[in-house]
Amino acid sequence: MPDLDLSIDVALLAAAVIDVPSESHHEGHLADLVERALEGCGHLQLVRHGNTLVARTTAGKGERVLIGGHLDTVPGAGNLPHRLEGDRLYGLGACDMKGGLAIALSLAATVTNPVRDVTYVFYECEEVASQFNGLQHIVDREPALLDATLAILMEPSNAGIEAGCQGTLRAEIRLAGVRAHSARAWMGVNAIHAAGEVLSRLKNYAPRNPVVDGLTYREGLSAVGIQGGIAGNVIPDECVVTVNYRFAPDRTLAQAKAHVEEVFDGFDVVFVDEADAARPGLDKAAAAAFVAALGVDPQPKFGWTDVARFTALGTPALNFGPGDPSIAHQRDEWVSVAQLRSCHERLFAWLTTQA
Ligand SMILES: [Zn+2]
Repeated sequence: MPDLDLSIDVALLAAAVIDVPSESHHEGHLADLVERALEGCGHLQLVRHGNTLVARTTAGKGERVLIGGHLDTVPGAGNLPHRLEGDRLYGLGACDMKGGLAIALSLAATVTNPVRDVTYVFYECEEVASQFNGLQHIVDREPALLDATLAILMEPSNAGIEAGCQGTLRAEIRLAGVRAHSARAWMGVNAIHAAGEVLSRLKNYAPRNPVVDGLTYREGLSAVGIQGGIAGNVIPDECVVTVNYRFAPDRTLAQAKAHVEEVFDGFDVVFVDEADAARPGLDKAAAAAFVAALGVDPQPKFGWTDVARFTALGTPALNFGPGDPSIAHQRDEWVSVAQLRSCHERLFAWLTTQA
């Protein structure tokens, strides 16, 4: 594979980056190419941890912004190499997020004297379990490397700004009964029947739409699984309903859990999985200034993203990248060349124009 030329047109660079396969856990080759390309940039200080690269300008500007993107993609689906059809650049990871990655790489190489210092982070294993996440490894091992007044993740956001993210937790509502032969049902207590009350509380549940820092979030409390039954002739003594609560960032994890316990008052509730929400942080000066400079209306982020890792560090963070997030991970994913160019132009201007 030839070296990456980071100085070429950003759409051509995106196509070249798509054509370097980098499924999660297999980012080594792409990381090598990125490292080699950035090594030639005298204005960047480069650190590598595993297959994660951090490249920083150190011009002493008094303000530092972090621009990040993951190197990995979900597994291939016969969608390599890239192909261009009109405005659409197709290929594995085109939307999530090699388009955004190409923009960040191009900026890293070409903005040699930014008006604000920049830390670029190109990291491994975003698409897999958190324990492998390259960004989290830096948080755990060398968090000072991520110091910034604002973090911009170039995840697909349709070239708009998506701020904050909702939290998520999963809980099992465990129902107990008494096992019996179904021919003598009156001898037992049916745990599956007991789930009826759980489901009716979910059906009658009115989700909140709270406004946080000016953005309207939409919550949801949903059954995502149900398990029960032993045999065709047995009254079951156990049934488990798994529920997923997606909560807005005005609630802490503890408050979200208390809310779920309150909804299912009287039932046995066991939490099995959780991730905190992230406030949009648009009240913080650096984030507000970025939003104003780009002149776009920020939108709330409903899914969970690595933005939350920055919020946990006290750094306001947002998503700003090309590509429609609703087609991420699809076999036919694509990124709009016009969006690629406009995101690139706007960030380039923001990094090179004195406010
Ligand atoms: Zn992504």
